[in-house]
Amino acid sequence: MLAEIIAVGSEMLTPHRQDTNSLYLTAGLNDLGVSVAFKTIVGDNRHHLTGAIIIALHRADIVVLSGGLGPTEDDLTRECVAEALSLELHTDPTTLLEIQKRFVARRMAMPPNNARQAMVLEGAELLQNPNGSAPGQWLDTVIPGPDGKPVRKVVILLPGPPKELKPLFDTACKPRLAASLPPRFLAKRLLRMALIPESQVDARTAPIYQLFPDVETTILAGSGEIQLHFLCVKPTAEEAEARVNEVAELVEREMGDDIFSSHGESLEEIVVLMLGLRDLKLAVAESCTGGLLSERLSSVVNASRNFHGGAVVYASEQKVNLCGVPAELIEEKGAVSVEVARALAEGIRERCCCSLGLSITGIAGPALTEGPDAGKPVGLVYIGLADGEDTQVKQFQIPGDRERVRLWATMHAMEMLRHTLL
Ligand code: ATP
Ligand code: MG
Repeated sequence: MLAEIIAVGSEMLTPHRQDTNSLYLTAGLNDLGVSVAFKTIVGDNRHHLTGAIIIALHRADIVVLSGGLGPTEDDLTRECVAEALSLELHTDPTTLLEIQKRFVARRMAMPPNNARQAMVLEGAELLQNPNGSAPGQWLDTVIPGPDGKPVRKVVILLPGPPKELKPLFDTACKPRLAASLPPRFLAKRLLRMALIPESQVDARTAPIYQLFPDVETTILAGSGEIQLHFLCVKPTAEEAEARVNEVAELVEREMGDDIFSSHGESLEEIVVLMLGLRDLKLAVAESCTGGLLSERLSSVVNASRNFHGGAVVYASEQKVNLCGVPAELIEEKGAVSVEVARALAEGIRERCCCSLGLSITGIAGPALTEGPDAGKPVGLVYIGLADGEDTQVKQFQIPGDRERVRLWATMHAMEMLRHTLL
């Protein structure tokens, strides 16, 4: 079963508005085992919209239209679907009465145009919209196929405002779709890895996932991580789950500890979980990341049991004041050095009375021209991890701009911690 989503509205063809409804609709359709093969955005233009609907009817079994059900002249969806399918539109008296009642309740006269919202496609079922005035429409129909034989098409018309579209799709459309589709169950798995090139992940995992043509595999890269999404649709939930688990387990075996999450958890969630399992308390000292690592760790619910806090030690004075780093050490080696990363990790651990101290110091950019760190390359980052007995410091050279260096530094810090806790 293939679906096409048509987002109607000229505003989405400007740089100012995005079509987000289709993301919601896609997730819902996928849950039912329906793949979205095409998405179209079309302006409020009769010819363009009718043309887009005709094309969609030829290439998809389910066509979902969002928007253009309002009362104004540029709300054309009903008329264009009618034209594309050569169907009549008629006024639904109950809907018209409902709309009239709304105006009476507000002591306003109903503009004649609002009657357009009570126009129903021949053969369509109205979907009551408790959050707005335009009802949705559900049309289960047949059109002649390429060989002249009739083919079934489901056409769904939904209002554009997300707070109307979402509940209407969930409560009225999903049950209808589920009832009219053969029983199909969808299973998903998400594996996440950090700081490995996408090409390397693909080279190592493609020979595995290619053995599973019934599982749709998607590799997504961004923000220092690689995600492997597996999706499978089968007649029973057990079959679908067994297949995604089978491929995921083989990939996990191949990638080993490079995988930080085998069920979609974020890196910060995993790190906090691991600290919790070992009953450890973490403090951090952040220089070039300015609190970004703390922000990520504290975003995890209940993190405070294991992530205690720390300090943003951006200026050298605060490295001295808050972590007890000797001022002479900074003078001699520079703030971005193995020695200062070590002193920061040890200092913050002690001052916060924690089991672990984690530090980040680096050149996020631009490069410095004076002082002890002058000439050190942009992207040079040292990360220190102290546990009271031993302190490890690692050096990284992170490519990219300031924002990327800062983000990746937090990824490296969390990965270093995770590997230590394995
Ligand atoms: P209305 O009765 O409000 O006119 P409508 O069904 O005609 O409803 P539109 O006029 O197309 O819908 O859109 C109304 C508002 O809904 C838009 O201003 C926009 O904010 C939002 N909207 C429309 N389509 C989308 C979309 N695809 N994604 C996100 N928001 C949308
Ligand atoms: Mg409108």
